[in-house]
Amino acid sequence: MLGLMQDQPLLISGLIDFADKHHGDGEVVSRRVEGDIHRYTWSDVARRSRQVAHALDGLELGFSDRVATLAWNGYRHLELYFGVSGSGRVLHTINPRLHPDQIAWIANHAEDQVLCFDMSFLPIIQAVHSKCNTVKHWVALCDADKLPADSGIPNLISYEAWMAHQSTRYTWPVFDENTASSMCYTSGTTGHPKAALYSHRSTTLHAYAAALPDVMCISARDAILPVVPMFHVNAWGIPYSAALTGAKLVFPGPGMDGKSVYEMIENEGVTYAAGVPTVWQMLLTYMKPQGLKFSTLRRTVIGGSACPPAMIDAFRDEYNVEVLHAWGMTELSPLGTLCTLKNKHLKLPKDAQMKLLLKQGRAIYGVDMKIVNDAGQDQPHDGKAYGDLLVKGPWVVANYYKGEGSPLVTDKDGVHWFPTGDVATIDADGYMQITDRSKDVIKSGGEWISSIDIENIAVSHPAVLMAACIGVTHPKWDERPIVAVVKKPDAQVTREELLAFYEGKTAKWQIPDDVVFVDAIPIGATGKMLKTKLREQLKDYVLPHIG
Ligand code: AMP
Repeated sequence: MLGLMQDQPLLISGLIDFADKHHGDGEVVSRRVEGDIHRYTWSDVARRSRQVAHALDGLELGFSDRVATLAWNGYRHLELYFGVSGSGRVLHTINPRLHPDQIAWIANHAEDQVLCFDMSFLPIIQAVHSKCNTVKHWVALCDADKLPADSGIPNLISYEAWMAHQSTRYTWPVFDENTASSMCYTSGTTGHPKAALYSHRSTTLHAYAAALPDVMCISARDAILPVVPMFHVNAWGIPYSAALTGAKLVFPGPGMDGKSVYEMIENEGVTYAAGVPTVWQMLLTYMKPQGLKFSTLRRTVIGGSACPPAMIDAFRDEYNVEVLHAWGMTELSPLGTLCTLKNKHLKLPKDAQMKLLLKQGRAIYGVDMKIVNDAGQDQPHDGKAYGDLLVKGPWVVANYYKGEGSPLVTDKDGVHWFPTGDVATIDADGYMQITDRSKDVIKSGGEWISSIDIENIAVSHPAVLMAACIGVTHPKWDERPIVAVVKKPDAQVTREELLAFYEGKTAKWQIPDDVVFVDAIPIGATGKMLKTKLREQLKDYVLPHIG
């Protein structure tokens, strides 16, 4: 017997319609590429998204055709989020930090028909447009009078001129909720990147889940600053969850440096911010010497790579800001786990709470996870046994776009799981902790050393700004860890002092064999440390006691 409830597909157009009707006067504030601050409301977003839909219809795009963006976090990008997907096309957000050849490769692979870009990226478009074989329409996200006369890009139009005469009334099409809505290519540190192709259903379910109190806890009382880019897994889904809840959105635009982020937080009464650890490192480095404090910021979600304990401490003890440690992947839309305490943990001493909050957290309803050993056997959830982390759920990829063969593995019960490539432990309360990316784990004499643990200890030293631990070949132990360290400006620490600092903080055999001081650690397109590049840079390095 079927239930007798209304059967209404979960569509992204429903999110923006809801925002328009139920919190239309909620604010959306953006720092524009032009440098000024732009303010309008959720009803304005809805109105202009409908104009985008008309404008796309005018280009005679087919259902599911791909519309690409190369843009910062801002209001025009937000309108494209809803206008493109709502009208049945697929929004393809491209990461502008990729190499131009990779951008062209991605645009061709996705068969993008339209490419909308912020004017800061005009030089990239000038470099790649002749290689993007499927793009027929180039749209500059600017006013008509800002369009350069001699850009060299055929038929370039300005977004505002394109939209200006479109009707503000539009009836969103209704279709199967499993229809593709947007796509995002993985970072692709080796080989060509692969695309996760999200659906209206997966995106809407993820938006509900992300707003839950034990997840990102997004409400109509929040003013959210997503520093995480809209080209990186849909800014962790925040634009959709904000439309669903009526939260104020504050977009930093191109200004992602410590000063710009701090000013945006203070000027706009931001209560809540989200980003990768490197961004928060920049913010704290800017604030600390000037003794600056936050007046409204209460929570920050940190994910994308492991959040060092020293950062959680600094936010809590010096700035009264709660850190929510999150884990996710492009293939998971992206949220998988988030770390919040349970009721029974509230009476624990601060140190014990801290130990938990360092973990990547508990599975969000909608994501199931387990750990397995090399033979695929389930490992116990005791917080000690580690294994490859497998996940499944309605917002986890089943296949890559145009992929050959399934990325999933099947367990002994015939259940399909997505192998994350991460190695983790899960404790009896369900808290998952990433030990490492499987390719970054250091295998020393048959034992595994977590590069994350080694890095966390290094950055807890007052003189260390950033640290990256990699394994180097060793004739007896196969691999031994070394740690590359960037010192804070004007701070001093020697190799010997840092190695001594490890004593008592980790097992003796896990202490790195060497410290290499470097000016910078290579950062990839999504703000994460690029260990492949670091390994390349240190390819001639030989351990001191061997060389
Ligand atoms: P991406 O698909 O580019 O977002 O990268 C996903 C990968 O980032 C994951 O598989 C993890 O290796 C890593 N990652 C994301 N969040 C965390 C976290 N909180 N701690 C450690 N690693 C993380």
